[in-house]
Amino acid sequence: MVDFSLTEEQREVRDWVRTFVRKEIMPLEPEVLRRERSGQPGIEPSEMRELQLKAKESGFWGVLTPEEYGGMNLGAVMAALLESELGRSFVPFRFGGSADNILFYANDEQKETYLKPTIAGDRKSCFAITEPGAGSDARAIRATARRDGDDWVINGEKTFITGGNEADFTMVFAVTDKENGAVTCFLVDREMGWKSQPIATMGEWGPAALTFDNVRVPHRNILGEEGRGFELAMRWIGQGRYLLPARAIGACERLLEMGIDYARTRETFGLPIAERQAIQWMIADSAVEIEALRWLVLHAAWQVDQKMDSRQAQSMAKLYGGVKANEIVDRVLQIHGGMGYTRELPVERWYRELRLLRIYEGTDEIQRRTIARNLLKGHASVSGVLG
Ligand SMILES: Cc1cc2nc3c(=O)[nH]c(=O)nc-3n(C[C@H](O)[C@H](O)[C@H](O)COP(=O)(O)OP(=O)(O)OC[C@H]3O[C@@H](n4cnc5c(N)ncnc54)[C@H](O)[C@@H]3O)c2cc1C
Repeated sequence: MVDFSLTEEQREVRDWVRTFVRKEIMPLEPEVLRRERSGQPGIEPSEMRELQLKAKESGFWGVLTPEEYGGMNLGAVMAALLESELGRSFVPFRFGGSADNILFYANDEQKETYLKPTIAGDRKSCFAITEPGAGSDARAIRATARRDGDDWVINGEKTFITGGNEADFTMVFAVTDKENGAVTCFLVDREMGWKSQPIATMGEWGPAALTFDNVRVPHRNILGEEGRGFELAMRWIGQGRYLLPARAIGACERLLEMGIDYARTRETFGLPIAERQAIQWMIADSAVEIEALRWLVLHAAWQVDQKMDSRQAQSMAKLYGGVKANEIVDRVLQIHGGMGYTRELPVERWYRELRLLRIYEGTDEIQRRTIARNLLKGHASVSGVLG
């Protein structure tokens, strides 16, 4: 029997974050919008740090980080609930005290140099696998690392790397054995010589293109094992996929609330548009889909906590979240009519941002491919949650 009811403690943690978002994050929204509209970053790193430290005062630090590194280690279900709360604001706030999950595979020396300073917020990383010729088909990567004495020499180009403009080190994936197609992950400091170039997108923040031109990296900077990079890459992507649709739940709830408020007050032909069936159906469909998404996300997160194979559940949550969040923001924009299309309201901002959810960390098509393949190969059953 699957039991998703929250404990008293879980409720308290969730409610604290809900209040934090309402009191500390949402009031920043007008200024964040104003800055973004004038081409500046919505929130400066120092402001983000200040907010993170404020949350830390109440113990909110490293939601998924193990206690031995000073984290809360709250588990996936709780992380999904908290991510949903944060998603209620478009201010891109994240709790401090975390690091990419694969950095925990670092050896003791690497942990001191990369993992711990990242958790502390003193260093910033980025995860670089995608290349101009290799996105969905990550196995097509061409970047190479050639052994030279105690070093490796990396050459190649990466693209669409989140955080690549700010990062001071990257976890980069390069082919180390062409014959066998073996790929290795390297921890590479910016000072070792890689360059980044911002990529303009339809969203409010841009990823980076990274260039490696004979970048020399010591052998000790291999993350995990030589030739086992793909396993790490799949762990990075696979383990936290549920967090993306979790964030979208919050965005959709907030958007639907905005749509409902507007429908109640906007009158046409002598009646609030809320009285019109066309509008009511948009509201009803959105509410049902948010609820369905919530269950898909919680189920995927619950499987992660149970250490079950959660790949099918995570792909379903990611696919449904991307598709439905885009439909919901489109409906809410429609309910607002011309106002929804303006830059006076944040609806168009969410509209642009949520579009990304259908592309990164596995496109809709790739999620469908995974889901269908699991069923066709008998790795998953159509009875889903009931097994
Ligand atoms: C803003 C942003 C941030 C990103 N952050 C990172 C990051 O931090 N690190 C990183 O490494 N990468 C990152 N990415 C890259 C992202 O993961 C890729 O863009 C994504 O995997 C798709 O790859 P692609 O763009 O090369 O599209 P392609 O793989 O070329 O796909 C093009 C189209 O074909 C479809 N398609 C591809 N293969 C199939 C198939 N077999 N069957 C049916 N349809 C198919 C795709 O779904 C898509 O619609 C980011 C991308 C963006 C836009």
